[in-house]
Parts: sequence; structure tokens; C-alpha cells
Amino acid sequence: MIPKPTNCRECGRLFLNLGSGKYCPGCMQKHERQMDEIASYVRDNPRSSVDEICTALEVKKSLVISMLQSGRLEEVNIDIKYPCASCGKMIRHGRYCKACGKKITGEIAASIRRVRKNAELQKMKKGVYSKDQWIDQ
Ligand SMILES: [Zn+2]
Ligand SMILES: [Zn+2]
Repeated sequence: MIPKPTNCRECGRLFLNLGSGKYCPGCMQKHERQMDEIASYVRDNPRSSVDEICTALEVKKSLVISMLQSGRLEEVNIDIKYPCASCGKMIRHGRYCKACGKKITGEIAASIRRVRKNAELQKMKKGVYSKDQWIDQ
């Protein structure tokens, strides 16, 4: 992808976004440091809540939650609950609770089916449709 100038979501500084996302390299580094702190804090205090971690380390709640969601804190075997990204129910693993996970997987599958069907119809209209061609893509 082409690097494009982006304002850092944390400090507002303009940086060249290489596809890594919303933060400038400085803030990314800071986040890495904070994530290490969070990981070691959680190791020492496995029963702490997200709020306690944020207060103790002065880090953003979103950072802790994104660590939990990406599974970066799973190895420490913590007992932290955080809200499901869809319905807000308290969960311990992943991004969504079981119900939402199921629903979302279903929705994705359904939308893929929809897109495929549309593409098939388009191809049939154009008369270039062939089953093998489609599978290859
Ligand atoms: Zn920044
Ligand atoms: Zn949910």
C-alpha cells in the first residue's frame, strides 16, 4: 500500500502511515512499552480488573482491552473480564462473546455467499461465467 500522511490518534502528530494504523511511531513505541508494563503488572496481579490496571499504570483502557482481544495477555493466565465488542457482555477471550461470535461468523458467511451470488450473476450476464474460473479466483 502507498504510505499516506495520517494524524496520530494519540498525539495528533502527522506521520507517514505505512499501513500499521492509527498511531505515529513514537506513540507505537510508547504503546509497546506500556504493553510490557501491563503484561508484567498482570503477571504480578492476576486478579486485577481492567480499571485497576489503567489506574495503576496510567494507561488507556482501550490499550488494555486491545491486548486482551488480541490474546496478548492470555499466556499470563489472568482472570480479567472485558466487554464483548458487540453487545458489551463481559468476556475473557477474543473480541466477542460466544453468541455474538456465532452471529458475526454467520453474518460474514452470509455476506460472502451474497457477494459470490452477485458476482456469479454478473458473470452470467456477461456470458463469461465458468465454474473453474470462479473457483480459481
Ligand atoms: Zn503519536
Ligand atoms: Zn456479545
